[in-house]
Amino acid sequence: MSQHPSILDHLPAGAEPATIDDQGRLQVPPQPAVGFIEGDGIGPDIWRAARLVLDAAVAKAYGGDRRIHWVELLVGEKAYQATGEYLPQRVFDDIRDLLLAIKGPLTTPVGGGMRSLNVTLRQRLDLYACIRPVKWIPGVPSPVKRPEAVDMVIYRENTEDLYAGIEWPAGSPEADWFIAELKRRFGADVRPGSAIGVKPMSAFGSQRLVRMALEYALRSGKDSLTLVHKGNIMKYTEGAFRDWGYELARQQYGERTVPEGQPASPGQVVIKDRIADNMFQQVLLRPEEFSVLAMPNLNGDYLSDALAAQVGGLGMAPGANLGDHCSLFEATHGSAPKYAGQDKVNPSSLILSGAMLLEHMGWSEAAGAITPALSRAVQDGVVTYDLARQIEGATEVSCSAFARAVAERL
Ligand code: NAD
Repeated sequence: MSQHPSILDHLPAGAEPATIDDQGRLQVPPQPAVGFIEGDGIGPDIWRAARLVLDAAVAKAYGGDRRIHWVELLVGEKAYQATGEYLPQRVFDDIRDLLLAIKGPLTTPVGGGMRSLNVTLRQRLDLYACIRPVKWIPGVPSPVKRPEAVDMVIYRENTEDLYAGIEWPAGSPEADWFIAELKRRFGADVRPGSAIGVKPMSAFGSQRLVRMALEYALRSGKDSLTLVHKGNIMKYTEGAFRDWGYELARQQYGERTVPEGQPASPGQVVIKDRIADNMFQQVLLRPEEFSVLAMPNLNGDYLSDALAAQVGGLGMAPGANLGDHCSLFEATHGSAPKYAGQDKVNPSSLILSGAMLLEHMGWSEAAGAITPALSRAVQDGVVTYDLARQIEGATEVSCSAFARAVAERL
C-alpha cells in the first residue's frame, strides 16, 4: 500500500489522466495530466524550452480543444532538497497513475554506490523498451556524407543484460564465492580476484521487445526488422536473442514477416540479423538497408549514441522508454552541469522527445508540426552554440530564444 495520497486526487482543475482500455490501448482525454521531471543541471532550461514548443504545437493544431496539464514530479536534486531522497517512492506511483511522463536529464551523484536514477526508473517501472528514432533533420550539421540516408528506429531492451545491476567488485566475498563455485561445479576457470557481472537474458524479455519493434514496423509500413546481437561469441544470451526473435516472427507473425533471403510480398516485414560489430560499419556504409532495429541492452546503448552522432549528435536525439503500461519520454544526453542555469544549451533532444510523446498520445497533427519547424529554425541559421560553431554564418541564440524560434515556425 502506498503511504501517500494518489496524484489523481490532486490534479489541476479540468485535467484527467490518460487511461488504458480493455484492449490495452491508450486513451487520452482532451485535457490530459502529463507528468514532467524537470531534471538536474541544464534540465530546467531545456524543459522550459520544450514545454513552450509543445504547448504552442498543441494550441496551433487544436485551438482550445485540447491542452496538456503538466504536473511536476520531483526526482533528482530538486527531490533531494524537498524530501531528502533523490528518487522518492511516490514518483513510481505517480507515473503509473498518470501513464505518461517526460523527463529532463538527471545527474547520477558520484560515489556512495548509488545506481543511476535513469536505470532505476526504467527497471522499476518495467519500461522495457528504449526507443530512439534516428533521422536526419535537414539543416543540421552531420559528420557523414549522406545523413539523409539514415532513417532508423532503435528498439533497445531496457531491463536485462549486463545492465541488470547484478555485479560484485573484485575481491568481494560474493565475487570470490562465484569464482569458487564456478570452478567446483562447472570446472570453469576465472582468474582469482576478478570482479563478476551477470548477464541475464530471457526469452520473455527478448520477445516482448522484438514484438514491440515488429508491431511498430507493421503499423508504420517499414520494410525490415534487424536483430542486432553478438551471438557468434555469446551464444546462449545474444545468440538466443536472435533465435527468440526469429521464432517470435515465425510463430506469431508468420504471414506478415519473411526471413531475409526469401522473396517478400508487399507489406511483409523482412526479418534479418547482424552481428553487432559488423552493424557499426553497416550503418555507416549502407544506412539505407536498415529500418527498424531490435537489440539487447548494451548493444543498444552503444549503437544509439553512434547513430545519433551520424545525424547531428546527442543534443538532437530524442528517446522514449515504453512498457506495456506507462511511458517516460526523455532527453538522451546528460545534465551537462557546467552549463546549468546559463540558458545556453540545445533543447532539441527534449523538444523532439516531446514530439514522440504527442505522437504516442495520438496527437499526430501537433507532433508532426514540430520537426519541420525545428528544421526551419536550423536552416534559417537560428541555433544554439553547439550548432552555431558548425554552421557558417549562423546566429547563435540562447536555449529559450531557440525555442521561441521553433514555436514561431510551427
Ligand atoms: P552530458 O551529456 O551531460 O554532457 C556532455 C557534454 O555534452 C556537455 O559538456 C556538453 O558539452 C554537451 N551537451 C550535453 N547536452 C547538451 C545539449 N543539450 N546542448 C548542447 N550541448 C550538450 O554527459 P556527462 O557530462 O557525461 O554527464 C553529466 C551528468 O549527466 C552525469 O551525472 C551523468 O550521470 C548524467 N547523465 C544523465 C543521463 C540521463 O538523464 N538520461 C544521460 C547521460 C548522463
